[in-house]
Amino acid sequence: MSVRPAPLPPGSTIGILGGGQLGRMTALAAARLGYRCHIFAPEADSPAALVAAAHTRADFDDHAALRGFAAACDVVTYEFENVPEEAVLACADATPVRPGANAIHFAQHRLREKDFFRRHGIGTAEYQPVTSDAELAAATLFPGILKTCRDGYDGKGQARVGDRAALVAAWASLGRRPCILEATVDFACEVSAIVARGLDGAARCFPIGINAHRDGILRTTTVPADLAPAIVAQAEAAGLALARALDLVGLVALELFVTRDGRVLANEMAPRPHNSGHWTMDACATSQFEQFVRAICGLPLGPVDVLTPSRMENLIGDDVARWPALLSDPAARLHLYGKAEARPGRKMGHVNFLRAPSPGTSSP
Ligand code: AMP
Repeated sequence: MSVRPAPLPPGSTIGILGGGQLGRMTALAAARLGYRCHIFAPEADSPAALVAAAHTRADFDDHAALRGFAAACDVVTYEFENVPEEAVLACADATPVRPGANAIHFAQHRLREKDFFRRHGIGTAEYQPVTSDAELAAATLFPGILKTCRDGYDGKGQARVGDRAALVAAWASLGRRPCILEATVDFACEVSAIVARGLDGAARCFPIGINAHRDGILRTTTVPADLAPAIVAQAEAAGLALARALDLVGLVALELFVTRDGRVLANEMAPRPHNSGHWTMDACATSQFEQFVRAICGLPLGPVDVLTPSRMENLIGDDVARWPALLSDPAARLHLYGKAEARPGRKMGHVNFLRAPSPGTSSP
């Protein structure tokens, strides 16, 4: 029988690297369990800092500030995977960081990430590196998607390429940065497996949700997923295998393609709470944010039963202007991130519809 390590008692301080909405919703869940959150973020009015007990405003390359921040916290985590690995290591000198640098090492680099998936028996689309002229000349996966190895998110830093000429042009337009060429997957749908794993190694996968994207950005997640049990089992197994392979303490989201011939292929991972898990805030016995806090603080994981069917819809850019109508819809649970400016493509909030939305409140 495994012995559960001592949990961090309520009143302890959780440090969060990054000040976005994921940090904000983590801080709100942490507060409910009696914890304080200390945000490290360069911006003045970040969504997370607005609801946290403390804020260190400094850049991620300011190692003295990072060490001071970590020393003031009982555990440190991060809310975005592109936090510099060195920043995480600087914090780890002073305080446990959960998940550790290992998870972002793989999550920040698409080629490393896909190699890691394959090494651990998690299927992916076919892929080839494009990091040199020789690799460019050797590429054969058409039609494919060329993606930069680093700094791509929400469909940025990628191009669909139908043939070699398009690939050559796309690589030039991406600045000849190290890239990965992936075969285009003819998928039936996209899903995510979100897994929490505690200090004692116990792991739990949230019910699988079906994701719909537009312009490379997640628009909706629907739960329960209308999928064959064998597909659900494959998705859960992939998520759990990933959490174990990373020796994760925290949360990891694995985005997956479900192919028309019944396979489940990993696209990418994020070792943090994920947009496709926002439905859990209103429609699951434990929200992904509370589960994340439980995992990194050494608490037992909570139950993950679906309380009611739901559909999460992101409010992107001007969508946020719908807030008055959403507040009048009894089926809608509104979450706003406190961002001042509604720029196009910016995630301003989300809404969880706990049953079919009333006419006029959902986007087309
Ligand atoms: P990513 O930035 O890798 O998450 O990609 C954003 C979206 O582009 C995914 O959610 C898919 O809808 C689509 N996409 C990415 N890679 C592929 C692929 N290999 N085949 C088909 N669609 C893809």
